[in-house]
Formats: sequence, C-alpha cells, structure tokens
Amino acid sequence: MTQSTQESINLLNFSREKLIAFFAERGEKVFRANQVIKWLHQHCVEDIAQMTNLSKALRQELADNCVIAAPEIVHEQASNDGTYKWLLRLHDGNCIETVFIPEGTRGTLCVSSQVGCALDCTFCSTARQGFSRNLTVAEIIGQLWVAKRSLQPDPKANRVISNVVMMGMGEPMLNFENVIDAMQLMLDDNAYGLSKRRVTLSTSGVVPAINRLADRLQVALALSLHAPNDALRDQLVPLNKKYPIKMVLSACQNYLDKLESVREKITIEYVLLAGVNDSDEQAHELGNLLKDFPCKINLIPFNPFPSTRYQTSSNNRSHRFQAILIDKGCVTTRRKTRGEDIDAACGQLAGKFKDRSRREIHFSRLETKV
Ligand code: SF4
Repeated sequence: MTQSTQESINLLNFSREKLIAFFAERGEKVFRANQVIKWLHQHCVEDIAQMTNLSKALRQELADNCVIAAPEIVHEQASNDGTYKWLLRLHDGNCIETVFIPEGTRGTLCVSSQVGCALDCTFCSTARQGFSRNLTVAEIIGQLWVAKRSLQPDPKANRVISNVVMMGMGEPMLNFENVIDAMQLMLDDNAYGLSKRRVTLSTSGVVPAINRLADRLQVALALSLHAPNDALRDQLVPLNKKYPIKMVLSACQNYLDKLESVREKITIEYVLLAGVNDSDEQAHELGNLLKDFPCKINLIPFNPFPSTRYQTSSNNRSHRFQAILIDKGCVTTRRKTRGEDIDAACGQLAGKFKDRSRREIHFSRLETKV
C-alpha cells in the first residue's frame, strides 16, 4: 500500500463533490467521478491500473499525478468473540486504532477522527496522549477501506461492516469538514452505501458544530453525557464548562427537529464509573433530566486502563441503575463489553502510548494474549 507523498494527490482524500470538480478541471464528465469512487470504495482497489473502465490515457494521467494512500496496518488482532482491532500507521508515523465489532449478521466499525484528543475527559485513555492533529478525509475513510479489505477474504465468515460509529480517538465535531466529507462517502451509494441510521456521529457536545450539522449531513447522533448534572459533568467532561448540559440537549433537540424523519432519537452514552456517577440518586436525576427528551440511553461498562483512578461499576449496580431509568420511562440498554482479551473497547482506543516505539511494544505484548 502506498503512503501519500506531498507531490501526489491522494484519491482517498476526495469527497464526491471534490472528485467531480477534480475531473471537471480535466474536461471529464460527472460519471468519471462515480466510476472512480466505485473503484476506490466498493472494490477497494489499491492500484489505478485496476480501474479498467477508464481509458488507458486517463489511467496513465491519474497514475502520473495521484496515489491511493490509505493508512498502513501495523498490527491486526482478533478477539475470541470475533472483534478485530487494527493499529494503523499514518504517513507521518502517528498511529490510530480502528475496531470491528460483529453482532449477529451486523458488524460495527468504530472509527477515529483525530490523533489523540484535546478535550481531556478524565475517564478516557485517549485524553492521556493529548492532541496531535486532525485526521484527513483519506485517513478517516481509509479506516473503512482498510477494514473492508481485511475482512473480505473470507466471505463465509459473514464479516460485513453494516454500521459505523465515529467513537474512536478524538472529538469528530472538532474535525468537522473532514468528518463530514468522510461520512458522506460512508452514505454514498457509489461508495459504502450505508443507511444514515447506521452511521453514528458521537460528540461530547460541541454545540456550534451540532447546530451546523443538519444542514450538511443527516446521520444518527450520540451524545457522550456521563453525568446527570453540570457539577459532575464539569469534572468528567471539561467541555461541559463551555457548553453545559441544557445547552447541549437543546442543540441536540434542534438537530432532531431539522431531520427529515421524525422518529429519530439521540443516543445518550453514559459510562458507569463506580462510586462516581452510578448511585440510585444519580439514576433518578438522570431519569428526570431525560424522561421527556427523545433519546435512548446506552449504559457502558468502564474499561480500566493503567493509571486511571476510576473503577468499573458492579453488575448489580449497573442493573439497578438501568432499572431506575426504565421505571422513569427511559429506553435504556447496557452495552456488552467486547474484545476484552484484546483490550479493544472504544474507551481504550490507542492513547495509552504516545510515541510510536512504545506503542509497538504495547501491541506486541497484547498479541501474546490472543
Ligand atoms: S472521551 Fe472522546 S472527547 Fe473525551 S477525551 Fe476521549 S476521545 Fe476526546
């Protein structure tokens, strides 16, 4: 797989509109863009010479000026439960993780949007490495490209990417334009053709971006809430000091109001932290906050990582927390922990080791567990 060079144009960086404009500049019609998008994202070719319905002259011109440069797989791990995790190296040596989680006939890919994260949520391992940079469109959509190519060889295994969640490393709303371009390709029938209900953008609550979202893209929206009141959320999700709960919920409601389908709901993500946000009182407070809000609540078990001060809530506690919310009339599910043997849950994506050499040491240790 070729890595991008500064001189070459990376075809994976193009949204559909930008590819149409690129070909228009060369006197080519719109259908060329559709043909190339199909080769890139449906067939996942890595060589322009494979685009056999383009003229030889056009293939040569593209080959002279362009590359197909996706992130490079450094390590692949497979869990006993079918979960896959890939460590992907970017052209500048930074690494990101992408996780595939199968569930029956469905499969969800958890995709990163940034290298590291600036938001510093106190329970998050990614926050520990700070923020390096935004991912390009090619690096975001490239995670699907790489995962699809990796999962395809064994059709009997029924490993299909039917859902994508932007819940990996980073805050997607702070890399707005690139995330929008990549997500449009996820929905594009000439590319990945996913249903907009099966593509989820998860945010910690960047209100100005939520306000802009509906005009650009209509997908499922998840809010990482994690606390029933501002005092606690200020501690867990520092962004809350800028955009407190009421302001964020109001932006989410406005987003729903703009959607074409009236049946949509916001997914509220709530990581249960023992003794911090999982008491009966907090369940009541959360239920009161959300009982009239169009949402479903997803309770997530905390996955501890080295040096964290938090602990996982017990099974009894999380059952009780869920029961109180259901009593209040809130649709509430509890997420199963997946890929435990490879440390693959989204709260544990990368972030543990900032520099490349140490990260590789970490991964080679993990590989011995699989
Ligand atoms: S939870 Fe998400 S937004 Fe918060 S620090 Fe981690 S990656 Fe960033």
